[in-house]
Amino acid sequence: MSGNGQMESIIVARGLKKDYVMGTETVHALAGVDIEILRNEYVSIMGPSGSGKSTLMNMIGCLDSPTSGEYVLNGQAVQDLSDDNLARIRNREIGFVFQTFNLLPRATALHNVELPLIYAGVSSRDRQRKAAHALEIVQLADRMDHKPNELSGGQRQRVAIARALVNDPSILLADEPTGNLDSSTSEEIMDVFDALHENGQTIIMVTHEYDIAARSQRVITLVDGKVEAEMSVDYYLARGIKRPVAAAVAADPPASPEVAPTPVSAPEADPEPAPSLEAEPDPAPAPGAAPEPPPTAAPLDSVRPEAAPPTPGTPRPISNPWAPPRTPPVDGGR
Ligand code: ADP
Ligand code: MG
Repeated sequence: MSGNGQMESIIVARGLKKDYVMGTETVHALAGVDIEILRNEYVSIMGPSGSGKSTLMNMIGCLDSPTSGEYVLNGQAVQDLSDDNLARIRNREIGFVFQTFNLLPRATALHNVELPLIYAGVSSRDRQRKAAHALEIVQLADRMDHKPNELSGGQRQRVAIARALVNDPSILLADEPTGNLDSSTSEEIMDVFDALHENGQTIIMVTHEYDIAARSQRVITLVDGKVEAEMSVDYYLARGIKRPVAAAVAADPPASPEVAPTPVSAPEADPEPAPSLEAEPDPAPAPGAAPEPPPTAAPLDSVRPEAAPPTPGTPRPISNPWAPPRTPPVDGGR
C-alpha cells in the first residue's frame, strides 16, 4: 500500500523493444511497447500466441534486458543496470509464477518455497518461518512436507505462488498460470490471486482465457509485439465478450473484423490437468549450489513460446479479437 500517492506507477516502460537475432533473421518480439502499471493494480496481458507476451513479462520481471527502450521499475531505471544488480532487483521486487510451475521435483513444498530466500541470503530459521507463512497464505500449511508429485496440479501451482510471494515482492508476475490446469482448478488459483490483490499485491498476468482476464482490472492486448489495446475489463463485460481464442484466431482469422467468439477447436479446458512436470528436464540448481539464476527466475527455455511458434519474420495476418472494434459493434442486439 502506498503511503504517499494513491496513483503511483510501479512500472513505466517506454519504447520497449526486444529483438532476437536468429541466424540471418531478426524477430522483433517487442516492437516498441509503452505501458504504465500502477501500484496495487491487477492487469492482464492477452494476445495471440507469439505476440510477445512472455517476452514482455521477461522484461518486466528483469529476466532479460530489452534491446532498447526505457524501463523504470519501482522508481529504478532498470535498462542500464548490470546483470548483478538486475538479479538483485529481480530477487527483491519480482515474484514469478509460470504455467509449468517449475518446482524442484525432489524438494518438499517448504523447501521449494525457501529457495528464493537462500539466494537472498536469509538465515535458515527465518527462511523456514517465512516459507511456512507463505504456504499458509496459499492454504497449504498441511502440505509443507509434500513433494510436487504428492500434490495436485492446483496445489503445485499454489506452492509456486507461495515461492513467488516469499520475498514479499512488489510485483507478482504470472505467465499463463492456469494454462496447465482444468477449469475448476483454474478458479481456485484465480481465487488466490484475487485474495492477494485484495491484500494490495500488484499483479500482472498473461492469459489466453477471457474469463480469467475478467478477474483483473485492465486488459492490455499485444499484437505483433505492440500494444494493440488497453481496455478496462468492463468494456468486455458490457459487450458480453467471453472468450477470444488466440490459437484459433492465429490459425484461422475470422472473416469479420468484429469480435467473433467462435467456439473453434480450442478446448474449454486442458484435457489433461497438469502433465507431470517432474518428467521435464528441470535444470534448476541444487539448493545452496552455485549462484545460478534464482528460482523465481526460471530458465528462459521454460518460457519459450508454446506449441507452434510462428515462423520468425513471417507476416501474420491476425485480426485481434480483443481489440475494441474500430467501428461501432455491428449488432446492438435485437
Ligand atoms: P507469446 O508469449 O505472446 O506467445 P513470446 O514472447 O514467447 O510470445 O514470443 C514473441 C516472439 O519472439 C515469437 O515470434 C517468438 O518466436 C520469438 N521469441 C521469443 N523468445 C525467443 C528467443 N529466445 N529466441 C528467438 N526468438 C524468440
Ligand atoms: Mg508466452
